[in-house]
Amino acid sequence: MKTRWIFGNQLCHDLPILKEADKKNDVILMIEAKSRSLWQSYHKQKLTLIFSAMRHFAEELKEKGYTVDYRKADSFQKGWEEHKKDYEPDSVHLTHVSDSRMEKALKKWQEGLPKKIDVHYESEKPLFLLDKEEAKGRLKGDGPWKADSFYRNLRKDFDILMEDDQPVGGKWSYDQENRKPAKDGVEFEKARRFRPDDVTKQVMEEVEGTFGDHPGKLDSFPWPVKREEALKALNQFISDRLPTFGTYQDAMLTGDAYMSHSLLSSAINIGLLTPEEVMDKAEQAYYDGTAPLNAVEGFIRQIVGWREYMRAVYLKKMPAYKKVNELKHEADLPSFFWDGKVTMKCMSESLKPVVDVGYNHHIQRLMVLGNFANAFAISPQQTADWFNEMYIDAYDWVVLPNVLGMALFADGGLLSTKPYVSSGKYIHKMSDYCKSCPFNVQHQTEDDACPFNALYWDFLDRHEDKLGDNPRMKLIYSQWGKRDPEKKDAIKKKAASLKQQLTKGAFHE
Ligand SMILES: Cc1cc2nc3c(=O)[nH]c(=O)nc-3n(C[C@H](O)[C@H](O)[C@H](O)COP(=O)(O)OP(=O)(O)OC[C@H]3O[C@@H](n4cnc5c(N)ncnc54)[C@H](O)[C@@H]3O)c2cc1C
Ligand code: SF4
Repeated sequence: MKTRWIFGNQLCHDLPILKEADKKNDVILMIEAKSRSLWQSYHKQKLTLIFSAMRHFAEELKEKGYTVDYRKADSFQKGWEEHKKDYEPDSVHLTHVSDSRMEKALKKWQEGLPKKIDVHYESEKPLFLLDKEEAKGRLKGDGPWKADSFYRNLRKDFDILMEDDQPVGGKWSYDQENRKPAKDGVEFEKARRFRPDDVTKQVMEEVEGTFGDHPGKLDSFPWPVKREEALKALNQFISDRLPTFGTYQDAMLTGDAYMSHSLLSSAINIGLLTPEEVMDKAEQAYYDGTAPLNAVEGFIRQIVGWREYMRAVYLKKMPAYKKVNELKHEADLPSFFWDGKVTMKCMSESLKPVVDVGYNHHIQRLMVLGNFANAFAISPQQTADWFNEMYIDAYDWVVLPNVLGMALFADGGLLSTKPYVSSGKYIHKMSDYCKSCPFNVQHQTEDDACPFNALYWDFLDRHEDKLGDNPRMKLIYSQWGKRDPEKKDAIKKKAASLKQQLTKGAFHE
């Protein structure tokens, strides 16, 4: 008998290990392992998503005629032992996992198996466009690498938005058109959200009972938990919301945590949707004339470029990558990251959706929360742990490159050419937050000054040895160099005082 073992982030009906299964003789194993849920203190929304989606997937497989052994166990090992006793398999088939800790755990499990049980790993496509070896093979040498060339090559190889060997429209990127702030009464089509069904309600109760001390709220649960729902979310995004995705991709708006973002990452990352079908539907919308090129290209670049690129960097650089701290930031993450109660308006607008539903769009993650961690010199490992615990779509392979690499520059520029740091000016330009913030975005050293202002210059000053020669930062360093020494001193003093205040609980509401 063959066991085909499926994990909670591999819930895809087109997995090779399922397609080649013999429905009569093989058994599909799925284990809800309590110990896995305790590796970190995961958001209650995330635990609900995984358990509910696993239970739905198991039911769908049964309806299709598979034999499913669905177990709840204290650990994967215990669940496996019970399964082995009941079914006595002679081989186990698994899908490659991306996360390095899980890979290590499976290696250990395999070492402990009796010799008569064979283990076979199958491709993780279609969970990704590239399998592990293909992904690593596209990053030559030890880096640094460029996301842009990685993206262009994938566009060509998958023939996405291409006309012969040229990009449709003549340009590879329409980013220049995608930076409009969403002010002056702009409104967005509402995203499709879902009501918890009986299975999800049951899981929510269990999560509150067993993991009640985990962070985050569970007052509502809006995420798709089965393929049918994920497809509805995808279709509604493509028809109603993709057209405005591009223009306002980098914008932020008070009270609207979703805007035109797709909210599909939670479903893609557990296999309910494949990246290929998502990109194909977006491309088709362009050819059908229902979404403009700047929106479609901008969206496709996220899936084809960034998602695959980040995973490739992770695969190439782990396990050393998780410890990178090139800028030597050591401060603690303040407690308001867990309850969202903070006086800075941009921070409270960004933290509320995380606490409520485990979600932010990209710019809040990068230019508000990541920027805050850089400005206050917070430990990259503490920051990455927080991102890993709090987001509905978080997995090590996507969190570490995004947090340590893109947001915090803790890898010294392995995957992006310059740190994403800014003063309050950027947030003011791209959002309507500052007008209702108790801090003044125009002030630098006054008592009510926006904290990002002094901290931005302080960041540059602290890291001049590492960043001063960066061609993309030369201009800003020359501006800093020309400043009056007294003013520079006042800014540095203000920044030191802000960092000191944070350790004493400042900004917490
Ligand atoms: C500090 C930080 C932490 C992040 N943590 C995660 C995470 O834990 N899980 C996660 O899936 N993404 C993460 N991202 C990437 C990105 O922010 C999210 O994928 C996106 O916000 C999810 O929302 P959405 O589905 O509405 O995305 P959209 O804006 O609609 O984008 C479409 C899709 O593109 C993909 N995508 C876009 N950007 C990236 C990226 N940089 N890396 C990987 N995929 C990308 C996602 O699948 C996403 O669903 C992080 C980014 C930053 C800067
Ligand atoms: S003033 Fe500063 S702290 Fe307040 S919302 Fe604007 S950028 Fe954020």
